[in-house]
Formats: sequence, C-alpha cells, structure tokens
Amino acid sequence: MILRLVFLGPPGAGKGTIAQRLCTSHGLVQISTGDLLREEAAKGTELGEKLKAIMASGEYVDDTTVVELVEGKLKELGKEKGFILDGFPRTSAQAQMLEDLLKKLGLKLNAAFDIEASDEIIIERLSGRRSCSKCGKIYHLKNIPPKEEGKCDKCGAELVQRKDDQPDVVKSRLETYRQKTAPLVEYYEGQGLLKIIDASGKIEDNMENAEKIVKELE
Ligand code: AMP
Repeated sequence: MILRLVFLGPPGAGKGTIAQRLCTSHGLVQISTGDLLREEAAKGTELGEKLKAIMASGEYVDDTTVVELVEGKLKELGKEKGFILDGFPRTSAQAQMLEDLLKKLGLKLNAAFDIEASDEIIIERLSGRRSCSKCGKIYHLKNIPPKEEGKCDKCGAELVQRKDDQPDVVKSRLETYRQKTAPLVEYYEGQGLLKIIDASGKIEDNMENAEKIVKELE
C-alpha cells in the first residue's frame, strides 16, 4: 500500500526527525512546508524576505502560499510515490484546501499522525536542536549529537541553530500551534484518520511507537 500521511503536533515534538527516519525506512518522500519555506526565504527575493520575517516571528505564512508549494510537490511526485506531509496542514483552511487538492489529484490520505510531547520536553528539544545548513538533517546537542561536533554526519556541512528556535519565538510558536493547528486533531479524528504517537521518550522508543502504527496501516 502506498502510504500518504499527515504529521500534526507542536513544534519540537519530533515531527521532522520521525518523518526523516520513516521516509528512509519506508521509501517515502518527506514534504516539510517549513523546509520548503526556508528554501524560498533563502532565495533573497521579495517573497523570500517577507517569508523570513513571518517565520522569525513564529507566526504562520498565509495559506495560499503554503498550499501552492505543496501542490507543486504533490504534482511532481505523481500517483505512485508515498509521502509524509510534515507540518502541513496547519490551519482549518489548509486542511480543506488539502482535501480539495487530493481529490483533484485522485489521492487519499491513509492517516494523520499527531506527534505529541509536553511543553517542557519541547522547550528542551528546541533549545538543543541543530540542523544541517545543506541537507536539513536534524540533530540535538545532547540527544542526537553528530559524530563530529558542528558537522553533519551525512554531508559534512555546518550545523546551524534556527532563528525561530530562540526561547522568545518558541513561546509564540507554541501559542500559534495551540490556537490554529490543535483543532485539526479533532478534524482528523472525525474523519477516522487520527493516530496519536507518544513522542515524549527517547528517539528509539518514539520511532518504535511510530513504526508500530505504520505496520498496522501497511
Ligand atoms: P517548521 O519547520 O515546521 O517548524 O516551520 C517553521 C515555520 O514555517 C513556522 O513557524 C511557520 O512560520 C512556517 N510554516 C511551516 N509550515 C507552515 C504551514 N503549513 N502553514 C503556515 N506556516 C507554516
């Protein structure tokens, strides 16, 4: 079965890390709207500068811009490839737009994973998070350290801290999540697609929880 998943969950709960690993083990494609937006922001265009400012504040980028990026990626993938939408949808409007888009493309979601961890854990994870400036692989200074300090294991590029992982922005990202994205948990529950993943433990345990649900879906 071709897996088509949505990943919900607060920033720092481990969506990206779990998505990267599941994609590797199951041959799926990770579509992270955060990564796509950061790529766009790095281009230095007028749109890029606007995106950079919004993301640095912890607010959400407008629905139309985000959905256009996702539409482009899904069209590129075609019908035969499974994917994980990591950090999308994040608003009720996006969830509706995704539903319309999937219908248009003749595709169906298999599940929506709600990746959950407490605020305390989230803050510890985000403050220690580092990511590769080139390939985006995610590390944590204590929990998932690179083999060589400051360097990516996979491609050797420099590891950086995201601007929006600074404590004051983290607080506002969590608030935005609770207000705008948390209601989607109910939305997907209503569609019979919701799977809750406890991601409060060590990465190996969290992966075991996620893999178990994936096996049930396959
Ligand atoms: P992430 O890498 O998923 O933590 O996303 C980083 C930032 O990108 C978020 O704080 C938002 O500003 C923006 N962003 C990512 N995905 C979305 C989305 N689906 N809708 C709106 N903004 C998004």
